[in-house]
Amino acid sequence: MIKYLAADSIRNEKLPESQKLPVVTTAKESPIFELEGSFFTFPYKDEQTRTVCLKRVIFRSTNVFGRGTTVVRVECACRHCLPNQCNWQGKELVLKLTFPSETRVSESMFIDRCKELAQGEHAWVLKHLPDIYWSFDIPFRDGLPQDNFKKGFEDGDEMRVMRGTIQEELKALSSLKTAKECTQVFCDIIQCHHWVRKCAQIFHRDVSEGNFMVRERYGKKYGVLNDWDLAIWLNNERDGPTSLIRSGTRPYMAHEQQSVHWKGPHRYRHDLESIFYVMLLLACLYSDPNEKVPHLEDKEFRFEEWHRKDDEFLRDKKSSVVHAAAFGPPVSPFFIGFLLWLTELQDHLYMGFTGLGTHIKQAAKQEARQPNKLPTFDVETLGGHLSCEQIAMILHMFNNEQLTTHGLEWQKILEGLSRNQ
Ligand SMILES: [Zn+2]
Repeated sequence: MIKYLAADSIRNEKLPESQKLPVVTTAKESPIFELEGSFFTFPYKDEQTRTVCLKRVIFRSTNVFGRGTTVVRVECACRHCLPNQCNWQGKELVLKLTFPSETRVSESMFIDRCKELAQGEHAWVLKHLPDIYWSFDIPFRDGLPQDNFKKGFEDGDEMRVMRGTIQEELKALSSLKTAKECTQVFCDIIQCHHWVRKCAQIFHRDVSEGNFMVRERYGKKYGVLNDWDLAIWLNNERDGPTSLIRSGTRPYMAHEQQSVHWKGPHRYRHDLESIFYVMLLLACLYSDPNEKVPHLEDKEFRFEEWHRKDDEFLRDKKSSVVHAAAFGPPVSPFFIGFLLWLTELQDHLYMGFTGLGTHIKQAAKQEARQPNKLPTFDVETLGGHLSCEQIAMILHMFNNEQLTTHGLEWQKILEGLSRNQ
């Protein structure tokens, strides 16, 4: 069994005093990574440790429930870091640190399960999942500032661990050059998200722009659904209390989840609604994947505020988007091809929520008259308006060009569609 290091022993004792890493005191303000060029040592196989050299901080979260994520570029610091002698040599590595509750299933377990299942006709999905090389937990020893540390989180009663993974570095959406590349990346990610839920029984639950990543292999670009820290096993109690709290990244959460009174469950269609917001904000706030629109003229769609405002504001704005009978967002010229997707998706949200509203009214009337004969409504897909089939139908075409589809299931859906047309 691996003997884990306590959190304070991440300081490398061999380093000069000036380069020692400070002890973590709070999750969000962790000063750990201020020292570029420092070393970070963590537990590895067979009671060994391994060390990486810290490079640039790539990401530090401020707006995520239940975590305080930091991603930093690293290089292997082993003594003989040569090809054929080190399994990390030549790889572009990042160290990701999170501070989940100790009962939370680690991201690497979800990805390992997917890898087991990604055989034969399912092998395509591997191109769209992160590659995790190593994962470790560092518990907080008695007497360390666990109490201070817990205060930074919404669910302050749970014991936390420092969890690290060494992963392949992926590129952000800003690395994309053409609208076609963007749409294929979205299509890849949506199919990956669906496969993982259907075939591996894992539900991602944190669809956001920052988790849509790009992998480049031999000049080809693939959409990767990253960051499985908030995922859960479907129909399984193994996840502990964190599976019950609201999950997601605020500007992209489904509007129902923006209510503090929301009790769940988190459904597939909530992640589809989040995908819609990722597309909407990207297409309206950016003049291309790498550049923000400098002056937003349209006062009605002040999407830049979505990154700053609270739940109440967002619930109100998103609610008016999904309930709009006419919808024409100010998409920038680069993303004009997204307009059809966005209006179609909004139309499905609109029809779904209108149907839900009508159903609730009818059910209330019926309750008074014949309580044993209540009308039914598929809340999971909002009366069939937000299902995998509907999404496949909306997304498979872009500017009259067919996008690449993966897996037999999507291909069957699309074949069925073309037969019916
Ligand atoms: Zn090495």
